[in-house]
Amino acid sequence: MPPQRVQREHRRYNPHSLTEDQDQDLKATHDSQESILQNGVRRLLEGLDGFDESTKALLESIPLSTLDDISEGDKNLWEQVHTTYPRLFQSKKCWGGQPPTDVALFLATMKMISESKSSSNPPYTAFCRGEIDGEVDPSIALAQLWSPDPAMPVSLVGFNLPEILPKTIFRAPEEMSLYIEPFEEGNQQLLVTPTYSKTDLHIDPGEGLSLSLGSEKLCLLFPGTKHNLDMLQKAEGQKEKLARIGRYLEGGLITNMTSSHAIHIPLGSIHSVLTTNGGFLITIDFIAPTSAKSYSSLLSTGLDRVDGRRYQNVYFDRFISSIELALDNNRVLLGIDSWVKSSDRIEEWAGGHPTWSRKATKMWNRFLKSPESKNILCPCGEPGQSQFFQEHFKCHYIFERLDRHR
Ligand SMILES: [Zn+2]
Ligand SMILES: [Zn+2]
Repeated sequence: MPPQRVQREHRRYNPHSLTEDQDQDLKATHDSQESILQNGVRRLLEGLDGFDESTKALLESIPLSTLDDISEGDKNLWEQVHTTYPRLFQSKKCWGGQPPTDVALFLATMKMISESKSSSNPPYTAFCRGEIDGEVDPSIALAQLWSPDPAMPVSLVGFNLPEILPKTIFRAPEEMSLYIEPFEEGNQQLLVTPTYSKTDLHIDPGEGLSLSLGSEKLCLLFPGTKHNLDMLQKAEGQKEKLARIGRYLEGGLITNMTSSHAIHIPLGSIHSVLTTNGGFLITIDFIAPTSAKSYSSLLSTGLDRVDGRRYQNVYFDRFISSIELALDNNRVLLGIDSWVKSSDRIEEWAGGHPTWSRKATKMWNRFLKSPESKNILCPCGEPGQSQFFQEHFKCHYIFERLDRHR
C-alpha cells in the first residue's frame, strides 16, 4: 500500500472530534445500520456502478433514507430546522420558456470557453477532483462528458449562457409555496459535471433549487440541526468531510437528480453530490421568511467563515433580508427569535460593519413602531420585560450607539 493511501485511511477512521467511546458507540450504530440498508437506498447506490469500491462502501456506511421512505422522526428533524424536508418538483413547472437541448448547451458552453480563453477572470470556476483549479483547461470538462475520468474529473461551475438560457427562464414552481415561500429569486447559474465528479459536504448561502439538464446525480442531504452543524464546523478546513463525518450525521437522505424533477435544497442543509451520469445542471437561489432561522443557526455556529469567508457578506446581508421578510409576512416571533439567538455574533459583526448595522437598526426601529411589536415576550426570557418589550429589545439587541453617530 503506498504511504499516501495509508494516511487517508488513518484520517478517515480517526475523526479528531470524537472520543474513543463515542467512536465505539457510533460503530455499533453503523453495524446495525448496515443490516437494515433500505431497499430504496440500495437501488439508488446501484447508480454508483463504475465508482471505486471505497466510495460505494462509504455511502453504504452512512445511515440514509430515500425521500419516499423518510421516517416521521427524520421528517421532524428537517421540519424543525427548515420547515420542510427537501422536495422534488416536476421540471416542466419550473420553466418559463423552452429549455435548451443538450446539443445547444454543449455548443454554447464551447463558445463561452473559447471566448474567455485569454481572460484573466473567466466567467466560470473550474474544479478538478473537487478542488478549485485555475490552471486546468476548461475544455476537458466537455471532453469528459464523452470520456469520463474517475481519477481527474474536471467540472465548471457558476456560468451563464444568456443566449439559450435568459435570466429568469428557470424559476421556483408555484406549488413550492405549499412548503416554503420564495422571495428574491435569482442568481441563475449553470454547472457542467462529468461522470465521477463529486462535491464534498458543504452548505450553500441561500435556499437552492436545482435541476439536472441531461446529468444524473446522487444527492446526500442532512438537516442543519445543531448536532450536524457542529460536526461540519469541526471538520471545516479538512478534505474528505463526507468520509470523516458522514456516518455521524443525523437525518440523512439520499435522492437521485434527473431532468424530470427539480429539487429544493433547504438553506443550511449539509449536502454532497456525486455525478453518476455527466451533463449540465441549472440552479437558482432565493430566500424565504423562514430562512432567518437557518441563517441564525449558521451564524451562531460560525459557518459563514468557511471557504475563505467567500460568502460571509452574503450570509449577513441575506440574514437581514430574511428577517425583514419574516417581520413583514406574519412571522414576527421567528424573526425576533432568529435575531436574539445569534445576538453575540451579530453584535461582533455590527461593530466592524457600520453600514450593515445601520440597515439593521433602521429595520428594527421601523418594526418597533408598528402595532405588531406590542405584547411580545422576548425569547431571551429575561423576567419583567413583558410590558416593556420595545425598550428591552432596543436596549439589548439593536445598536443605537452606531445609529447616533450617523
Ligand atoms: Zn450545494
Ligand atoms: Zn430579550
